[in-house]
Amino acid sequence: MCEFCIKHGEGKKWYLQAKNYSDDLLGDVRRRKLIEEFFTDTGSVRRSVEKLGRLESAPRFVRGMARRLVTRKMKKVHYGQVVPIEDVERILELTNSVVRMACICRHVTLGSERRYCYGVSLAPDGGRFGEIVRNLDKSFLTGPDTAGLEKLAKDDALSALRGHEQEGLCHTVWTFRTPFIGGVCNCDRSDCLAMRCTVTHQLPIMFRAEYVAALDPEACGGCRQCMRVCQFGAISYSASLRKAVIDQRGCYGCGICRAVCPKGAIRLEDRSKVPVAAGLW
Ligand code: SF4
Ligand code: SF4
Repeated sequence: MCEFCIKHGEGKKWYLQAKNYSDDLLGDVRRRKLIEEFFTDTGSVRRSVEKLGRLESAPRFVRGMARRLVTRKMKKVHYGQVVPIEDVERILELTNSVVRMACICRHVTLGSERRYCYGVSLAPDGGRFGEIVRNLDKSFLTGPDTAGLEKLAKDDALSALRGHEQEGLCHTVWTFRTPFIGGVCNCDRSDCLAMRCTVTHQLPIMFRAEYVAALDPEACGGCRQCMRVCQFGAISYSASLRKAVIDQRGCYGCGICRAVCPKGAIRLEDRSKVPVAAGLW
């Protein structure tokens, strides 16, 4: 169990606790302000990208200190966790409305609209979270539909989310002032700042999933599809065995390799039961 499961999940998966999606948590003024700034202050996202670039050239002890401070702060305000599709499905079962919206990271990194973010809420109409976001001026975004929140039926949302797996995108859940959870995003290492921070710059702002991938060598046909989609570089290819090999210590448990494997050779296991990965978050 990750730290948030212990603190906010009563020993179970924290993102499957209805209370963490509750409208009541949006009575907190600081939380509302954070959400408003998150969806409008693209300058702060740009500044974060620049700071990340500078961090790499800083002395080692500065990098170490900055990483610890940023991670500590982000755990309080905006922190994520990788979740496989079966748990995304459980989140959709638990909540009562889902809206698709443009991704702010992609707006900054690509300069274009990519509708990869899904707001979820216990309230049937998106509740206070939807109300806050609907009332913001999002005219800085670029696409024709960006300013709108696209309400989706749960089945449609799930099918779109499965489609993102085939694009090689990894599902993540996100807090807005922890423990309130505002949505599910679909991340990749090149365009998503959270993944860039966590993986490329080793500055964690998301936990690994509660799972880890395991491969059945007998079933593997050696096609390397799984290797191509792993955002975390946890899969290699053994030329002598002619099979893929998963490094469970590097695995984030997203399950995207499983989604693309034509042989059904990959499964997810409970992280806590895999000794080499149990303590890695
Ligand atoms: S995608 Fe499946 S069959 Fe292909 S290399 Fe990976 S595990 Fe083996
Ligand atoms: S090996 Fe792990 S991190 Fe890589 S795609 Fe598979 S589940 Fe995700």
